[in-house]
Amino acid sequence: MQDYIDLAEKNGVTLIDIGKCQFCGANTQRGIHECLEIFNLGFQEIDFSNFENHIYRFLIVDAHTLQHPEIHGRWNNHFHLSRLHLIFEYGIKWTYELSPKLSDYLNKYKVHKQDEYLTPPELLKRGNITTTDIKEKSTNETDCKDLIKNWALEVYEKWSVHHDIVDDIAKGFLNKI
Ligand SMILES: [Zn+2]
Repeated sequence: MQDYIDLAEKNGVTLIDIGKCQFCGANTQRGIHECLEIFNLGFQEIDFSNFENHIYRFLIVDAHTLQHPEIHGRWNNHFHLSRLHLIFEYGIKWTYELSPKLSDYLNKYKVHKQDEYLTPPELLKRGNITTTDIKEKSTNETDCKDLIKNWALEVYEKWSVHHDIVDDIAKGFLNKI
């Protein structure tokens, strides 16, 4: 899991090893490294063996990726913002089977959109809820789910300047499946 260090370097970003997360502002001691550790542990109040709870996994990944685009490839923004748009605006009940389908759709889409960048919101202005909030404030499964949903909604709203683009993607995608 050192890939993110290489990606940050590739994106010209210097990672800060101490203090708050430089991207989302999470209340960490070891910056992005700790923010990612919390993310990777995956909020264990939620029982992910229950199919009904899978949606929270998608929301976690989308929210975290869109708060930290500097440690991902540029087309990840299209994927995760489109998925949130499909979930929030179209009420799609996302499943593991849909993710590779959306990836395939975007692989074809991007061939004709090489100049299209989804510029991220400013650093630290990507939603008030962060990994450390969820870790510290979730005392039970219900709280944890509510926080995750609000986290994803906040991040989604912070990317609102690109909602038109992902709406076109969502419509094209829904036509194909
Ligand atoms: Zn962070």
